Amino acid sequence: MCGKRDLDTQLSGVLVDEDRIRERIAELGQRITEDYRGRDLVLVTVLKGGFVFMADLTRAIDLPLRMDFMSVSSYGPSPAHGQVRITKDLDESIVGAAVLVVEDIIDTGLTLHFLLKVLRQREPESLEVCVLLDKDVRRIVELPIAYKGFSIPDRFVVGYGLDQAGAFRQLPFVATLADEVMG
Ligand code: 5GP
Repeated sequence: MCGKRDLDTQLSGVLVDEDRIRERIAELGQRITEDYRGRDLVLVTVLKGGFVFMADLTRAIDLPLRMDFMSVSSYGPSPAHGQVRITKDLDESIVGAAVLVVEDIIDTGLTLHFLLKVLRQREPESLEVCVLLDKDVRRIVELPIAYKGFSIPDRFVVGYGLDQAGAFRQLPFVATLADEVMG
């Protein structure tokens, strides 16, 4: 078992600290509250990485809303091929709903591109994206991003829901890993 102290020694630096995350989520929540008033708002996130952002973002939105969850996995020769399979689908219909997809991080954009295509076919009233971390320099496909937390450089990050081999998700900040952990 690893304690928090052990986790800290495996990090090379904090990229986005707790205070900045909290402040940015409050701003995003306020904008979403203004934009979605009076609509049937459904927030959809992708497990497992998105659950921490989803939990904090929903509590920053001052509106009635529903939450739903999906899981996807990449397959094929490499994730860059963008072949994605749904391993857990939504529990409820989104027909006519104002759907906001809540993502922890966008890298190439291929996963989200696939997901948006699937969700669009289900005839929501609207379909928008809210992402916490955007590695925009890595983007292969264009994506409409209505709400963004932070643009980050092309580094592998962990914490605030993001893992490396299942670890680090519980860190309250976003960090880069020490070289020896990256392998
Ligand atoms: P994309 O399809 O945009 O290339 O990849 C998106 C997925 O790759 C994310 O949902 C996440 O699971 C994973 N990913 C991309 N960059 C990182 C990163 O820096 N750290 C972690 N932990 N996962 C990442």
